[in-house]
Amino acid sequence: MAGSKNHTPVVLTVAGFDPSGGAGIITDVRTILCFGCRPVAAITSLTFQNTEGVFGAIHESAQSIRAQILPVIEEIPVAAVKTGMLPTAEIVLEIARLIRNHDLPPPVIDPVMRSSSGYELMEQEAIEVLCHELIPLARLITPNIPEAEALAGVRVEDESGMRNAAQKLREMGARAVLIKGGHLSQKSEVRDQKSAGRQATDLLHDEDETTSFRGEWIDAPLVRGTGCMMSSAIAACLAQGIALNESVRLAKEFVAGAIRQAPNFEADPVTLKITEITNLRE
Ligand code: PLP
Repeated sequence: MAGSKNHTPVVLTVAGFDPSGGAGIITDVRTILCFGCRPVAAITSLTFQNTEGVFGAIHESAQSIRAQILPVIEEIPVAAVKTGMLPTAEIVLEIARLIRNHDLPPPVIDPVMRSSSGYELMEQEAIEVLCHELIPLARLITPNIPEAEALAGVRVEDESGMRNAAQKLREMGARAVLIKGGHLSQKSEVRDQKSAGRQATDLLHDEDETTSFRGEWIDAPLVRGTGCMMSSAIAACLAQGIALNESVRLAKEFVAGAIRQAPNFEADPVTLKITEITNLRE
C-alpha cells in the first residue's frame, strides 16, 4: 500500500457481530485490512451463531450506535462507509441521520436481510426505513436476488429482471446498484444445467451505464460472509479513489478467490492479497 501510515484510508463498517467470524464485522474488518485500509467499526447487533445456523440476536439501540460512531468520526476522517446488518428501523434511521449530519461519505449498503440458514436479520419496518431514508444516500447498494426482489417489489427470474430491479433501486435514489446474480443459478430455468457450465452474472448499474460481470458459478454452500466481503472490498477500493467499476471487479476477484479456497480450509481467504492496487487509482 502506497503512502505513509498516516495516509492509510479509513473504512467505517456498521454491521452485526457474528462470534464465529464467518460473516459480519469480523469478516468486514479482515477484508478491509486485506485491501490495505484501516477499519473502524460499530456493532448493530450481537448475534449468536456458528456454522450450523443463527440462534438469536440482541440488537443495539440508536443511542448506542451514535455513541459508538460519534467519538470515532470526530477524531478520524473516514474515507468510505459500509453498512451490513441493520436490524431495526431506529438503527437505520440513526445511520441515515449520522451520514447526513456529519457529512460522511455516501455508503456502500449491503442490505442484509436473512442468514443463509434462514434467520431473519432485519425487521420489516427496518426494510421500509432503509428504502426511504438510507437508499437515497447510497453510493452503492449490493443486494442479492431475493434482497433486490424485496426492495424493488419485482420478481427477478433472469438478466432482464435484474436490469428492471436495478432501475427501480436507482429510482429510489441510490447512485449505483450492484445486483449479485448468484441466486439466479438456483432458479428453475438454469437449475438443470450442469454446475460446471453455470454462470453467475452480477449487474452493475452506475449513473447511466450498465456493466455485466460474468463469472463461473462456484457451488460452495458452506461459505458464509461473501456478501460482507464483497461490500467491504468495494468500500475499501472506493476509499482509495478507485473507480466503482474497477472496485467491483477487484472485489469479485477477491470473493471468488475466497470461495475457491474456503471449502478445503487449507488456506485462510484473508491471506489473499490484492496487489498493485495503487496503479488503479482514479
Ligand atoms: N451479518 C451478520 C451479522 C450475519 O450473521 C450474516 C449472515 O448470517 C450476514 C451479515 C450476511 O452474510 P452474507 O455475507 O453471507 O450475506
